Parts: sequence; C-alpha cells; structure tokens
Amino acid sequence: MGPALALLAVGAVAGLLAGLWLGARRRSSMTPTEPVVQPRQAPPHSASPRPSLNPLQVLRGEDLISLAQYDAQELSEELRPFLRDLARQHGANEVTLWRRAAGEDAPLEIVAWSGEGLPPVGATWGTAAERALVAWSAAERMVGFERRDGEPRVAICPVRFASGEPAGALVLQTAERFTTPRDALRDWLPHHAAQVGRFVGLFSTRNEVARQSRFTRALLRIARELQRSHEPSVLERALCDYAVEVTGGEYAVLLRWDASQRNGRVAAYSDATPATLHDSDVSAGSVAGAACIEGTPNFWEDARFLADRGGLLRDDDGGLVAGSMAVLPMMRGADAIGALLVGASRPGVLRALEIRNGSVLSALAVNALEASWELAETSRRSRTDALTGLWNRRHFDEQLERVLAETDRFGGACALVICDIDFFKKVNDTHGHDAGDVVLQRVAAVLHEGVRTVDVCARLGGEELALLLPQTAEEGATELAERLRQRIEAMMVQHGGVTIQVTVSMGVATYAAGGDGKATIFKRADERLYEAKRGGRNRVVAG
Ligand code: GH3
Ligand code: MG
Ligand code: MG
Repeated sequence: MGPALALLAVGAVAGLLAGLWLGARRRSSMTPTEPVVQPRQAPPHSASPRPSLNPLQVLRGEDLISLAQYDAQELSEELRPFLRDLARQHGANEVTLWRRAAGEDAPLEIVAWSGEGLPPVGATWGTAAERALVAWSAAERMVGFERRDGEPRVAICPVRFASGEPAGALVLQTAERFTTPRDALRDWLPHHAAQVGRFVGLFSTRNEVARQSRFTRALLRIARELQRSHEPSVLERALCDYAVEVTGGEYAVLLRWDASQRNGRVAAYSDATPATLHDSDVSAGSVAGAACIEGTPNFWEDARFLADRGGLLRDDDGGLVAGSMAVLPMMRGADAIGALLVGASRPGVLRALEIRNGSVLSALAVNALEASWELAETSRRSRTDALTGLWNRRHFDEQLERVLAETDRFGGACALVICDIDFFKKVNDTHGHDAGDVVLQRVAAVLHEGVRTVDVCARLGGEELALLLPQTAEEGATELAERLRQRIEAMMVQHGGVTIQVTVSMGVATYAAGGDGKATIFKRADERLYEAKRGGRNRVVAG
C-alpha cells in the first residue's frame, strides 16, 4: 500500500475520531478567531412568513456551518516542537494532528504537523475508506499498515478536550519501524493525545481571553467616548464603527426606529456595508422591525434563512443579505428607539459571545443617542419656520456669517437673493388670511425645490424670503432668481374654489472673496428688491 492510500485510511480513522470537533467547539466557549465554513445545500426549514424571535436566537443549519475556529497557523507553529519531540521519541517520520471540518463525510484537515514549513492547511482527505478497519482501529486506538516484521507503520489516537469532547486525531507515521515497541506505543499514545488536547484547549482559551479582554477594553473606551459626541451624524457613524470593533462583524448599520409610528429608517452605516442596506426604510413586518417591536436581540449564524422569514428591513426585501447577521434593538424602557445590525458576508463568522458585546454597546449607547437625536430635533425646530418649513431668520443670520467667512477662506463668491411677494396684502384682503398662508407656502416650496442642498432657503419674516447661495457669482444667482420668478408667475394656487396667482420681486447681491461689501450684502440685496418694486414689481434686479 502506497503512502497516499495509507494516509487515506488514516484520514478515515482520524475523520471518525475527529468528527465531532464541530460539536465540541460549538459547546465550548473557547473559540478563537477564523471560522471554517462548510457551505452545503441549504437545510430544510419551515417557510414561516414571520420571524420567530427569541433572545439571542441562533438559527443554524445543523450541518451547514463549522465553528471549528482557531488561529490555524499560530496553533500549528506552537504545536510543531511538541510533535517533533514525539517523532524523535518514537522514531516516526511524521506526526500529524488532524481534525474534521464538519459533518459526517466532511474532508479532513491537518491542524499541525512535525514537518518543515507551513502544514498543508486545507489539504484534505476523503473519508470513504474501509469502515471495518476504522471501527477496529478506533477500538484499538492504533492501527498498522504494511507491517514489516509484525511492526505497525501508522499509529493513531483520538485527541479530546479536557471536557471529553473529541478534538481530532494524533497520527504517527514511520517509513520503516517505530523505535518504541507496539505495546509501549499503545500505552504512550493516550498520554500524548491528552497533552495535545490540553494544549489545544489552552491555546483556544488564551486566544479567547485575549480577544474578550480587547473587546472589554474597547467597550470601556467607547462608554467614555459616547459622552462626548453630541452631533447625531458623528455619533451614529461612530456607533456603527464601534459595533464592528466589539463584535468582530464586518459591517454595522444603525437603524432609527419610531415606536409610535412602527417604522424606521437606516440612519448610518460603517464601511463595507452592502449597498442594499445604505438607504432604506424599515417596516414593522420586516425582521428588523419585528425585533424592534418585540425588543429582542436576534442572531443568525446563517442569514440565508432570512430570505424565507420576511425581509430584513422591508417586507419585500428577502435575500437582501447573505452570511451572518445580528439585529440588536436599542431599548428605551419598553420601546426601541433604534437597532444595530451587525453583519458578515459569510455564515458562521459572527458568534453569540461577541454579539453579546454588541448588545452591551446598544445598552451603553441608548442614552447618548436619544439625547443627541432630541437635541438635534429641538435645535432644528428652533431654527425652522412653522408655516413654510423654511429656515427662520435666526438660522439665516448664522448661515450668512458662515457662508461669508467660508467665501473668504475658500475663495470664489457667494450670493444673496431677497424675495418679496407683490401686493400680498391684497391677497389677504381679497381671499382671506388662510388663502394668503397657502400662497406663502406654495411660493416657499417653489424656492425650496429650486435650489441645491448647500443653499439656504429662509423666511426672513412676513412674505419676505431669502436664498443664500454659496459658491455662486452674480450671473448664476441672477439666472436662478429669474427662473424662480417665472415659475412663481406661472403658478396657479387653488384655494376655496378660486385660483390665485401672485408674482414676486427679487434683489440680488454678491460678495467676492477678499473684497469689501461683506457687511453690506444684506443691505444691497434689500435695496435692489425695492428697486424692483419701484420698477414695477415682478422682476429681478441685480447689481
Ligand atoms: P409689496 O408688493 O409692496 O410687497 O406689497 P405687499 O402688500 O406685499 O406689502 P406689505 O408689506 O404692505 O404687506 C405685506 C402683507 O403680508 C401684510 C401682512 O398682513 C401679510 N403677511 C405677513 N405675514 C403673513 C402671513 O404669515 N400670512 C399671511 N396670510 N399674510 C401675511
Ligand atoms: Mg410684499
Ligand atoms: Mg414685505
């Protein structure tokens, strides 16, 4: 029998013995970094239209995912000297620690070996060798092939964790003969295997402790940092980054949830978030919405299940994500104010232990986030005109200062357009004050819709509106004003069974970087507005 066949048979034995590495790691909390994933056919599942939600629920394709996780290379290097000693002690050419990745017929992988260089990690062997031999050798704990002079060429022993769970198989091979007699080898091997088992367990524990203490330190730092950020967009984005940091996920998305309206939207997301999650509403019937309503964290090691359980964010977005996913509601009393989604592109990458860090983060962040949202809302309201929804005079004054200062700093020019409705008093007198309000709202809407997002559109008071246009010279500002004037002139406002038409007059003034006239820009625009009025109204006057 050639060495390949011998290894194949050895592999079969190792497979039998190591088959439950998966189960062992799943129950053990000592699970280090890189997971090994065995994608197979999707397991059967019930097509429930609604997600069923339990705290930290783990939906798992039983034979879909292997949680055999460890830092393969580091472990293999740490084990090598020990395996070499074994080889020397017993006259073996090679000593190998095998494990099986997942499932009954899954291939075998080398965890560590005594040979030079990196072990052929990922090298795999089939397991379909002779079952009788496997059964026998498992019972005997040793097996010999191609005996010469009655001596075994291969010796094998199961490796178990301290808990007794199978961890793999230790295999010694020799080209000629072991220097230790067969019976002595049979006594020695369980001791070696126990030592390897303890080593692998300790190695895993060490990595896990290091990982957890890193996360704990990060959480402490984040708890301090959360107190400092008040600007919602900064805090929202930071939270997503923190979530990635403490969970080991690849990306995180922050949802804002309105418990009374039973809907939400995506507020922020970290780098590497799939584009499908960047900008979305969140519906009550979705998995994320249901988690917010029920207030329970959810965790799917294999998020492919989500496709059959309603959409992730909307009822109809089934299949939005693959990989693993956690939804962690942020609770304020009985209501969720939002949720953190943590995801990874492959099933099995996220782990329950670290997802709990994400839940801790959610709890830590809830107050800071709510306070920042409320402050921003209060501030927005105090700067908004209630009738038109435009910015008010107070905000306009601040923005005028800012835009003038930025013009000096970055160069170019900025423009100010002041707009006043013509004969507005007459609209009120003829059609009533309510009709006047509606006209004012419609004129405001035309201005608001006609400008860029960087422009500031404000109601200065009464029926006087203003446009503040950063990085805009006189020609552009005048063109824009003229276009808006024409739109308002053409507008028919229906109210109380009558059609009302109005016109506006506009004054345009500009300021170029480094020039004089910064202090007079408002006055100049106002003077031109009155020129427009004197000139007959329904016109734009620029300087
Ligand atoms: P001009 O073309 O010279 O601007 O004439 P005008 O009638 O528009 O000017 P005037 O300043 O004399 O009148 C402005 C009117 O706008 C007076 C005021 O009742 C009305 N007004 C101011 N604010 C509001 C508001 O919020 N709603 C309504 N309906 N009317 C308002
Ligand atoms: Mg007017
Ligand atoms: Mg006026």
